[in-house]
Amino acid sequence: MWNYIILLSNMRNLLFVILNTLFPIECISCGTKGLDICDACIENILPPKEQNYPWITSFGNYHDLIIKDIMWHIKSQPNNRATTILADAFGKMVKNRPEYPDSWILVPIPISDKRFRERGYNQAELLAEYFGKTFHLKVAKNALIKTHHTNKQGTSKTREDRMENIKNSFGVYKKSQQLIAGKNCILIDDITTTGSTLIEARELLLRAGANKVLAWTIAN
Ligand SMILES: [Zn+2]
Repeated sequence: MWNYIILLSNMRNLLFVILNTLFPIECISCGTKGLDICDACIENILPPKEQNYPWITSFGNYHDLIIKDIMWHIKSQPNNRATTILADAFGKMVKNRPEYPDSWILVPIPISDKRFRERGYNQAELLAEYFGKTFHLKVAKNALIKTHHTNKQGTSKTREDRMENIKNSFGVYKKSQQLIAGKNCILIDDITTTGSTLIEARELLLRAGANKVLAWTIAN
């Protein structure tokens, strides 16, 4: 039995070496071989814009070209290695880690069924999973649900348009209400621009009985 497991693990390592030789891992942004996001690129990402809402923490500035490359990449295909690197880098940046992990849960911003079918995954959920591993926090995957499809945020021009676009577009999953009540939640999304999506989601969670609601995003 153990021999079999060791053999399987060796085969997996061998497969990794072969794949890595045939298709070497390259940095998504600069092409340097070795990692999906190289150390130099992570270090050179511009800091986030000043936030209007103190409860939102972002890692980088969306106008930074490196972060643009990464965001575009993780939206077009699930990349566990790149997501791990982002979660780790975020972890190093966040000083005020939740003190008692058991009372905090991560809540990814949902996408509509239509978008899920188009993309095959929700990048916020993937990020939440890796943040969960990095910070040892539980992920409440379906706590929030998208109740109707909204236009892409980028297509709404003004802040008012954006607020109107996402208004009433989320709901709290009934079975998750117990999970949220009295808990401290951290909303997870890839990008926030005006904060409108996070504001709407935060209000819902607070109304559902959440104690405190923060938000973490990769870019702003
Ligand atoms: Zn790079």
